[in-house]
Amino acid sequence: MLGQMQDWKLRLHHVIDHAAHEHGSREIVSRWADGHETRSDWTGVRHDAMRLRNALARLGLALGDRVATLAMNHLHHLTSFYGVTGAGLILHTINPRLFEDQLAYIVNHAEDRVLFYDTMFASLVEKLRPACPTIEHYICYDNGEFDALLDAESGDGEWADGDENDPCHLCYTSGTTGHPKGVLYTHRSNMLHALSALQPSLLALEPRSTLLPVVPLFHAAAWGLPWSCAAAGAKMVYSAVNEPAVICELMQRERVTHLAGVPTVWLGMFQHLDESGTDLPHLEEAVVGGSAMPRVMIERLMKAGVRVKHAWGMTETSPIGTCGCEPANWDDLSFEEQVDVKVLQGRVPFGVEIRCVDLDDPSKELPRDGKTAGALQVRGPWVVKRYFKAEEDAVGADQWFDTGDVGIIGEDGTLKLTDRTKDVIKSGGEWISSVELENAAVAHPELAEAAAIGIAHPKWGERPILIAVRAKASEVTEEEIIAFLADKVAKWWLPDAVKFVDSLPHGGTGKVSKKALREQFANG
Ligand code: AMP
Repeated sequence: MLGQMQDWKLRLHHVIDHAAHEHGSREIVSRWADGHETRSDWTGVRHDAMRLRNALARLGLALGDRVATLAMNHLHHLTSFYGVTGAGLILHTINPRLFEDQLAYIVNHAEDRVLFYDTMFASLVEKLRPACPTIEHYICYDNGEFDALLDAESGDGEWADGDENDPCHLCYTSGTTGHPKGVLYTHRSNMLHALSALQPSLLALEPRSTLLPVVPLFHAAAWGLPWSCAAAGAKMVYSAVNEPAVICELMQRERVTHLAGVPTVWLGMFQHLDESGTDLPHLEEAVVGGSAMPRVMIERLMKAGVRVKHAWGMTETSPIGTCGCEPANWDDLSFEEQVDVKVLQGRVPFGVEIRCVDLDDPSKELPRDGKTAGALQVRGPWVVKRYFKAEEDAVGADQWFDTGDVGIIGEDGTLKLTDRTKDVIKSGGEWISSVELENAAVAHPELAEAAAIGIAHPKWGERPILIAVRAKASEVTEEEIIAFLADKVAKWWLPDAVKFVDSLPHGGTGKVSKKALREQFANG
C-alpha cells in the first residue's frame, strides 16, 4: 500500500519557480571581471534560465548530457545552475585552477558537450580545445555570446520532467593522488541539502538575508548556495574577482549579512579593513569551511558581533557535513569558552551521520569521548555512494564513506578535525596533528600563515617542521616561534625547524597544498 500524499518530486526547478514566484524582486547583484555591475532578481534568473533551457534544446542536447562551466562567480554562471538542470542536463562546474592535463582529463571523462567560459580563461580554453574532442559548443559568458544565445529564445517553456534521483550536477574533487574523481549529485540530494542548509544552526537563511559567496561556484557543489538562497528568497551578491577591497565595498554597499568562504579569504579582508579603517556593519554570519578556521580569525569576527559558522564538509558530502552552532549552554560560557567551541567543526544536522574508526583497524568504532582520534566516516542522503563512472561503490554495504579526515568526536557529537589521514604526522609511533600545530603557530601576531608537515626522520619515522610566512615588516625568528609554541603544544610536537617563505602554495580552492610543500622540503 502507498500513502496518499501528492507526488511532488524533489526536482530543482521547483526551487527557482518558488524563488521567482514568492521572492521575485529579491536582487541578484553581479560585479563582473571588467568592473561593471548588473542587477537582476530571482524573476530575472528564472526567465534567463528558461531561455537557456530552450537554447540548450535547440543545440540538440539530450537528457543527461553534460554542460561544463569554466567560470568565476556571476549572474550567468548562477543562471546556468537552473537552466542546465531545469533542462534535464547535468551541470559540470570545473575548477579553472586545476592543471591543464587534469582539466582535459575531466572534460573527457565527463564527455562534456558544451563549455561555457569566462574571457579571463580564453587562452586556457584555446589550449584545451585540441585535447577535448567531445565539446561541440564553446560559448563565452562575458563577451556577448551568452547574451546572444539567450536573446534568441523566449522565456516560455516547461522544465524537463523526470525522476528525483536523476543526476543534475557533477563536480570533480581536486584529487591529491590519481585522477580527479567525479561526484554526481541528484536533484533529490541537492534539494534535501538545500532545505537543510536554511536552518538556523546551519546557514540561517531567510528572505531578509543577503549572501555574498566568496567561495567559487565551482568549489564543492558551490556549497549548495545557489539552491538554498533561492529556496530562502535571499538576495545574492556575486563578484567575479576576489580582491578584498572589492568584496568589502560590495559588502558595505549591498548590506551583506552572510559571507561564505574559506578561511584564507579573511586574511586579505582583515588587512584591507585595517588599512582602510573601515568595517562591515551589516555582516551577521560568516560561514567558513573548506579548511580549519584559525582561532584568531574566529575571535576577531566574534568581537565584531559576527556569528561564526565554522563548517566541515567535502565535495563528496554536497558539501555540508557538520557546522558549529551554539550549544545549549552557550550563554553560560565565557568569551574564551565560546571561542573554544567555535574552533571546533561543529555538529551534524539532521540527515548526516558521522563516526570515527581506529586508524589502524577500521572495523573498530571509537568512543565519542572527546579524546580519541580516528578516521572520520560519514553517511546520509547527500553523501556520495559511487564516483561517476566508477565500477564499484565508494562505500561498503553499511554505506559509511571514508572521508580521509582524522577527527575526534565529543560526547555531545561535536567534531574536532585534527588532520587529513595523509597529513597527520607520525613521530615515534604517536600522532601529531599538523592542524593543531599550525593553529598554535598562527596565533603568533607576527605570522601571517603557517603549514606543518612531516619530514622523514631516521629515528622517529617523521618529525614536524613548520613552513611559515611572516606578517608584513616582521623579522620574527625561528627561535622566537619555537619559544612561543613551547607552552602551547606538547614538547615532542615542537617543530624541528621553522622555515620562512614569502608565500605558501595554495591549490585551486585556496587551501594550502601540503603535497607541494612536502615535495619542496622532502630532504629537510
Ligand atoms: P573539498 O572537497 O575540496 O572541499 O575538500 C574537503 C576537505 O577539506 C575535507 O575532507 C577536509 O579535509 C577539509 N575541510 C573542509 N572543511 C574543513 C574545516 N572546517 N576544517 C578543517 N578541514 C576542513
